[in-house]
Amino acid sequence: MPLFNKQTPLEQGELRDAIEAFSAKAGFQLDNVFVIDGSRRSTKANAYFAGLGAKKRIVLYDTLVKDLEVEELVAVLAHEIGHYKKKHTIKGIIAALCQTGIMLSVLSLFIANPLLSAALGAGIHSFHLALISFALLYSPLSTLMGLGMNSFSRKNEYEADRFAAHHFNAAPLGSALKKLSVNNLSNLSPHPAYVFFHYSHPPLLQRLRAMTTI
Ligand SMILES: [Zn+2]
Repeated sequence: MPLFNKQTPLEQGELRDAIEAFSAKAGFQLDNVFVIDGSRRSTKANAYFAGLGAKKRIVLYDTLVKDLEVEELVAVLAHEIGHYKKKHTIKGIIAALCQTGIMLSVLSLFIANPLLSAALGAGIHSFHLALISFALLYSPLSTLMGLGMNSFSRKNEYEADRFAAHHFNAAPLGSALKKLSVNNLSNLSPHPAYVFFHYSHPPLLQRLRAMTTI
């Protein structure tokens, strides 16, 4: 990331004070807060943490800082801190490692099997044909795992929203999410089946509803 964008420490002021106050209250050890010039390449607004150690740096996109009020920005951070506190990051890394492990073990079964080359019409075993048959046969499995990952991710989003609502405030998070979905031109009423197959985040309306029932 630092190769492609410029990060500058967030200047002293209301926003920095509010972020530091909330981090201290939530027991989140903050190293520093940076603003990144994301507007150079896209209109997408975002916020994320960097670093896996005890102290984290928070990185805010300049687009996010420009579009959101101080309270809304802290609410978005509270959501992100929720992901961290609920260990979603580490669970995500473990799940991705398992997926890679499954892929490599299936690959190892396929790559030496002469039947697959024969099925594709070759007289002798070919590494390249085995690779092609692996790609063809692995895609349904990969789709299934993707569905699992998406539903895990949607569950985590609700959990992080709940964390932000409990430890900060649901109202500014709701208004921040509305602004972000306008910026991202999100579909406000996607079909539930489409959400099940493709969405890593629940649609805005469902997130807002879930927050009001907390
Ligand atoms: Zn999230």
